[in-house]
Amino acid sequence: MITENFASATENAIQVYAAKDLQPLINGSIITPGNGEYNTVRKIWNGMIDRNPAVIVRCINTNDIIHAVRFARDHDLLISVRGGGHNVSGNAVCNGGVMIDLSLMKTVKVYPEEKLAYVEMGATWGDFDKATQEYGLATTGGLISTTGVAGLTLGGGVGWLVRKYGLSCDNLIEAEVVTADGRLAKASLQENADLLWGLRGGGGNFGIVSSMKLRVHKVDTVLGGMIIYTRDKAKEVIQFYRQFIQTAPEELTLYAGLMTSPDGIPVVALIGCYCGDIGKGETVMKPIRDFGSPVVDLIQPIPYVQMQSLLDGGFPHGYRYYWKSGFLEDLSDESIDIIISHMASNPSPYSAIVLEYYGGAAAREPEGGTAYPHRQSQCDLVIGSGWVEKQDDEKNITWTRKIWDALQPYLSHKVYVNTLGVEGEERVREAYGDNYSRLAALKRKYDPDNMFRMNQNILPA
Ligand SMILES: Cc1cc2nc3c(=O)[nH]c(=O)nc-3n(C[C@H](O)[C@H](O)[C@H](O)COP(=O)(O)OP(=O)(O)OC[C@H]3O[C@@H](n4cnc5c(N)ncnc54)[C@H](O)[C@@H]3O)c2cc1C
Repeated sequence: MITENFASATENAIQVYAAKDLQPLINGSIITPGNGEYNTVRKIWNGMIDRNPAVIVRCINTNDIIHAVRFARDHDLLISVRGGGHNVSGNAVCNGGVMIDLSLMKTVKVYPEEKLAYVEMGATWGDFDKATQEYGLATTGGLISTTGVAGLTLGGGVGWLVRKYGLSCDNLIEAEVVTADGRLAKASLQENADLLWGLRGGGGNFGIVSSMKLRVHKVDTVLGGMIIYTRDKAKEVIQFYRQFIQTAPEELTLYAGLMTSPDGIPVVALIGCYCGDIGKGETVMKPIRDFGSPVVDLIQPIPYVQMQSLLDGGFPHGYRYYWKSGFLEDLSDESIDIIISHMASNPSPYSAIVLEYYGGAAAREPEGGTAYPHRQSQCDLVIGSGWVEKQDDEKNITWTRKIWDALQPYLSHKVYVNTLGVEGEERVREAYGDNYSRLAALKRKYDPDNMFRMNQNILPA
């Protein structure tokens, strides 16, 4: 009781200081419990996350971020950073500290001559793609249009253009970063090149990025969509996928997924995007379209922005989510059998298992060339469990853990940092792989006191 009273008195004091000392310095707003917007703004994509920051700072420019960081540092407060708010682990929101919310900072400026785009860190991929497609340009971004450019790029970033144009972080050429001492630093190949290296896969460990410059490429209409088969065809479809993708051209990125159709039918789907000449794409896609007997073939020429929101409906905001993911050593027949048999007992129609081979340009960047470490890894497996009601938490989490345990013999000790939950230090090390010690040294340089620790945290060396 005494501890609780002390905690709430401390929080009240923080809120008074924030109103008195911080609000006059910033252009955005400060939201505290009791404010009408508080409960909306603290909510993120994963409905399982229910945390209460003492103060939410809604930034509208870089200056606001600087003052928010200085305020948190001066009052020794935990910081969380919200970009798109999509991360499954929920690190965008903290309990009791300062949530620095960037979601109002959405400016995107396109420089078509230079093939560059400037983007503020509250922008989603929907915002980014809309602006760049005005000029027939794009860069590798996430599959769901409401995911943030910030978190996705800082962790690596894979999407429909990954085999042709590399990871999102490979296209990051400059960033403005508010560091732990509350200063603004530039990270580029010319200035603080070590910081740029760290931002390309090291997550939010080194500071708060206020804006990025990303390289963009000519991408217009793509040949894309899904081919859907009934679930009893799952093994042959996945085996076909495993073999076909090895020799497919880089213009094609193709994933396989086990899911439930909107009308409740268990299905397996091949979902792909060809970003090149549509005629050539038709030839490349022909073996896929000729394979087996699909229920429906929805592959067609579509605008790139349509491709980028094709799967939005499958991942609604505010549902409850629990994910497990990791790279498979190889996608063996035995692991395919386990995936299919466990998926048959999945308790929720909102869950999916997705298999993703990258390769192509993503594999060409040398290991160690960026902080993202898994370029030569095989197939990425994402078990994405989603459901609606709190009362169903246990059965869905138990199901996810069961399939995860069954797959252990086939998994490598590698995981993509952006799909990692709150899974402990060993898994965090697996996410950064061989780059961990270099990242830890960089962390010591830019954030020696580990102020930015609401993330897949790298401990300062
Ligand atoms: C439905 C769904 C689909 C996805 N699809 C893909 C996909 O296709 N490809 C892919 O690569 N990933 C994908 N992801 C994973 C995604 O990359 C991560 O969830 C990513 O962290 C989301 O970024 P965000 O800005 O939306 O998230 P947030 O939750 O806002 O941020 C995540 C973390 O990033 C850090 N961060 C955010 N903004 C900043 C900043 N400005 N400065 C410093 N640190 C910051 C913070 O540590 C924060 O906790 C998907 C996730 C979901 C939920």
